[in-house]
Amino acid sequence: MKEGIQPKYYQAKVTCHCGNTFVTGSTKENITVEICSKCHPFYTGKEKAASARGRIEQFNRKYGMNAK
Ligand SMILES: [Zn+2]
Repeated sequence: MKEGIQPKYYQAKVTCHCGNTFVTGSTKENITVEICSKCHPFYTGKEKAASARGRIEQFNRKYGMNAK
């Protein structure tokens, strides 16, 4: 195996915009992310609520309930 080809592998500290931090393996020492498993809608279930709201809006449009 040749040396110097593999990038240095760190235990990177990942900081999310929501304030959550966690450690992961990476070639970077510090990573900042905008979304993580703590605040991602997929994990929090917010996406479900959002899609439910979307269906209600769709219903309202269809039946003219949203008319101003
Ligand atoms: Zn987050």
